[in-house]
Amino acid sequence: MYLFVYGTLKREGVSHKLMECATFVCKARTACKYALIDLGPFPGVLHDVQISLITGEIYNIDCDLLYKLDGYEGEWYFRSETDMENGMTAQMYFLKDIPPSMKDRSFVIPSGTWEEKMGENTRGAKERILYGKKDLAQGHKNTLAYEVHNNLYLNITNRCSARCTFCIRDISDGVYGYDLWLSREPTLEDMISHLSELDLKKYKEIVFTGFGEPTARLSVLLRITAWLHEQGIRVRLDTNGHAALINPDLDVVNELKRAGMNAVSVSLNAQNEELYEKLCRPIFAGSYQAMLTFARQCIGVGISTRMTVVKVPDVDIEACEKIAKDMGASFFAR
Ligand code: SF4
Repeated sequence: MYLFVYGTLKREGVSHKLMECATFVCKARTACKYALIDLGPFPGVLHDVQISLITGEIYNIDCDLLYKLDGYEGEWYFRSETDMENGMTAQMYFLKDIPPSMKDRSFVIPSGTWEEKMGENTRGAKERILYGKKDLAQGHKNTLAYEVHNNLYLNITNRCSARCTFCIRDISDGVYGYDLWLSREPTLEDMISHLSELDLKKYKEIVFTGFGEPTARLSVLLRITAWLHEQGIRVRLDTNGHAALINPDLDVVNELKRAGMNAVSVSLNAQNEELYEKLCRPIFAGSYQAMLTFARQCIGVGISTRMTVVKVPDVDIEACEKIAKDMGASFFAR
């Protein structure tokens, strides 16, 4: 059977000695895009994130070696038959998830080639991977804004720094009949031009929400907020509260305040960090604490702050409400 390897099992890799009974067949690339992640001394590939074709080598191996390699790759990897660009299919190891202890040290390798990791500018936090189930999905309607309950909701990105187990994106293409997958992220000009055609004064609030984490596009968010604020329009941000982790070089809360953000609705989602990790599966280590800090800072600068939870098993609504109230935030269970 064929095995496709893309990291340390390759010919020049430090673990290639494990492949001594294997027969090299050819160099190859995957037929579909995945995300090659630098985990330090070795890489992994995330199956559900489309970044680039993965470059590697195909070997012919027997079952004994395959089982040995299953043990070597360990519990964080799973194996799946994968189509190659050259028409072959081969077994390939994928990461189940980025191990929590490595979240601070994992980076996407945009080229999809392990050897090129040092040649690429992959160390900046902004290059860190942000999940979008259907990154830049084709054939969708590019809904930039949609009306619900006298509010106007803005949809500026499908990227997110979490993968919540209850995320609506996993079961639907949108909400209230609006298709919210984007074929491309709208520019600031796209948004302003679209909003300029609407009677914005008729809405109770203009809300950044949509099918992703709005602070993944902080500069666009801030500029639109300032533009709306100048017109006396009330603006709210619905957020997972990871903004400081996504934008580590910025004082996000003060930037929001300066732009004129009136309110934030922060997804608390759990009464403790352990449950939060389980339910929200954030990509950054320390996301629960960062979310709480974000909410506290918003309250501190005078932004009206609400914390929300989704009613799913294990979430202790009363305990979550207490966290919100103790902090000085209002609370809403969805
Ligand atoms: S934070 Fe929101 S958009 Fe992101 S995965 Fe969770 S529910 Fe989905």
